[in-house]
Amino acid sequence: MSDRQRSLLPATALAVAALLMLGSCAEEAGTGVPRQGSSAGVTTTSAHLLKTPNTRLQPGTRSTSDEADLPQPPPVPLTAALQSPRTPYATLRTEIRIHFEGALNLLTVRHFGIEPEVNGRLDWADPQTLRFQPERLAFDTTYTVNVSVVGHSVWSWQFTTIKPITITIDDCASTGGELQNVLQVLAQRHITAIMFPTGICQRKFAWLVPAMLAAGHRVCNHTYSHPRLTQLSDLQIANEIRGGVHAGCDLFRPPWGDWDGPGGRVDRIAASQGYHVFMWDVDTFDWAGASTQEILDRIYGRGGVILLHFHGRNTVDALRRVDLQTG
Ligand SMILES: [Zn+2]
Repeated sequence: MSDRQRSLLPATALAVAALLMLGSCAEEAGTGVPRQGSSAGVTTTSAHLLKTPNTRLQPGTRSTSDEADLPQPPPVPLTAALQSPRTPYATLRTEIRIHFEGALNLLTVRHFGIEPEVNGRLDWADPQTLRFQPERLAFDTTYTVNVSVVGHSVWSWQFTTIKPITITIDDCASTGGELQNVLQVLAQRHITAIMFPTGICQRKFAWLVPAMLAAGHRVCNHTYSHPRLTQLSDLQIANEIRGGVHAGCDLFRPPWGDWDGPGGRVDRIAASQGYHVFMWDVDTFDWAGASTQEILDRIYGRGGVILLHFHGRNTVDALRRVDLQTG
């Protein structure tokens, strides 16, 4: 089969027999009746054969072509490990790689399945590594991968994809030009964000909040002067929120993430002015000078609500490169 012919197998046809061919040296791996796929409804009638390219006997693996009269060795234990994704939160185009160790002289995959179903391409990345390249996984979904091999166990793994990515950008910058750079790259990338400029920033750059709103961003409250609220009195907290930006958004983000939790003073005082505290899932550390790649790695590491800053050294570059759909 050519690569074209075997590309994009629908998940329903992913009951596959994948043969590792060894010229004429193949032997039956395992003994007894091959197990049926563990999943109900799995059929092998539409099985696809996957020939492994460039397969060779591994050093130390015996050839069997001249061993017909010799006692067969016991089946070599076969292990399988999920090599990719490695992290608890997979991105949407994560390749699924299953690495086999052991009975390498014949490996017949009876079934590969992924639930919920996903279209994709199944092949061998190398003679020991089965690879599934999904067209696109869904956000925030737990997938179960099942593989069974003739004469061996059924293996099963789970992983979860990242949450949808929401960009939030806080504070202010030293110059109007830096602020404009951020808005410009967001416009170029068609990214809308949740903005948390301070009240001081709004006063210093009078054009900023109207420009953000005109570009379709939500513009929310991050206090007037960016203090640590838990160190202030109730009245001071109320005044800080009152002096912050009010632009039709009911989200309030405490500076430094400094608050005393749900139902605490900050939460209650914010609520009294109509605000809900809105934190983040991922601190990119752009404020501390993180590199573009470090920022992107942190974003793709989990997804969800992403904390960025107008004054981050590499924030604009990260926004220029970030892929909100896939990672
Ligand atoms: Zn801040």
